Amino acid sequence: MSSKTKNADKLSRRNFLSLAGAGLAASILPGTVEAAQKNQELATMLDIETCINCGECVRACRKANRNKFPEPEKPFPDMTPQQRVRVEDWSEKRNVTDRLTPYNWLFIQTSKGNYNGLDFELHIPRRCLHCQNPPCANLCPWGAAVREVNGTIRINDKICLGGGKCRDVCPWLIPHRQTGVGLYLDLLPRFAGNGIMYKCDRCYQRLTQGQLPACIEVCPMQLQTIGPRKEILKQARELAEDINGFIYGDQENGGTNTFYVSPVPFDVLNKNIVKGPGSPHLEPVKNSMANSEFLTAALVGAPIAGLAAGLLSLKADKQKRNKS
Ligand code: SF4
Ligand code: SF4
Ligand code: SF4
Repeated sequence: MSSKTKNADKLSRRNFLSLAGAGLAASILPGTVEAAQKNQELATMLDIETCINCGECVRACRKANRNKFPEPEKPFPDMTPQQRVRVEDWSEKRNVTDRLTPYNWLFIQTSKGNYNGLDFELHIPRRCLHCQNPPCANLCPWGAAVREVNGTIRINDKICLGGGKCRDVCPWLIPHRQTGVGLYLDLLPRFAGNGIMYKCDRCYQRLTQGQLPACIEVCPMQLQTIGPRKEILKQARELAEDINGFIYGDQENGGTNTFYVSPVPFDVLNKNIVKGPGSPHLEPVKNSMANSEFLTAALVGAPIAGLAAGLLSLKADKQKRNKS
């Protein structure tokens, strides 16, 4: 029996603050409650061999986050220069679920092929990996993308201007822009950014309220496990050893807080997935923050980004008061 299976016997699925103490929680490692309360770094493990592609997690994510989805004002202002600040409008394609969009922060990627003479078909839930040293947050010029102490990377939709730096520097191009929403409309609608960037926030509010992320809670296969990073990594390594498998996410981009475990090597999976906009690759990724250009930009930009975040927050508050 794998360590994940052993753990699943002890686990539960609703409010983990109330249930984990009773030893009933599913998909939660012991110590997660304490780690969440102490704001320690949390990680998730995904045992992709068990995914049946039912789509429950995708539907749960959309339902849990529907209040955060953009409601753009139209017509959009003309942008200058047009080639740099393209309109990106997903508001008429909200039902798209086979890729990442501002209205779909999780999708199931399928890899079908042959490995060691055996046919395989594996399904991989894809979303932000929540990097340990995230270029998206380190390089956001406005301080809108931030790394929380529990390891969640979030984009503050009150102050994001939609310039898209976070997507440009993300090795998997995860964040997605919706034009026609956000503070840029009140600041410099023709020049500053072009909307708001959206991505998985690891259900930050649910976690702080002692609930599981929606996609973890709903999965009938208990595919994901969440807990303190050190413990989750240990469990991912044990599972990989049990199945003679492979891990993705522990080293990528200098380390992330998402560990995929697969019986098929990730380079083989990567060859057999659809890659492109909204459909990220599974290639090895070097630590992008070790790149001297990124490092210098982060060091120089951090104080400015902090100041900008404060000023933009004040501006956002003022706009809100004026509208109410
Ligand atoms: S995967 Fe991309 S968007 Fe997510 S934290 Fe890492 S760099 Fe940021
Ligand atoms: S953690 Fe929350 S926001 Fe992220 S993919 Fe799962 S349900 Fe969606
Ligand atoms: S709910 Fe679980 S089994 Fe269903 S698609 Fe999502 S990860 Fe796979």
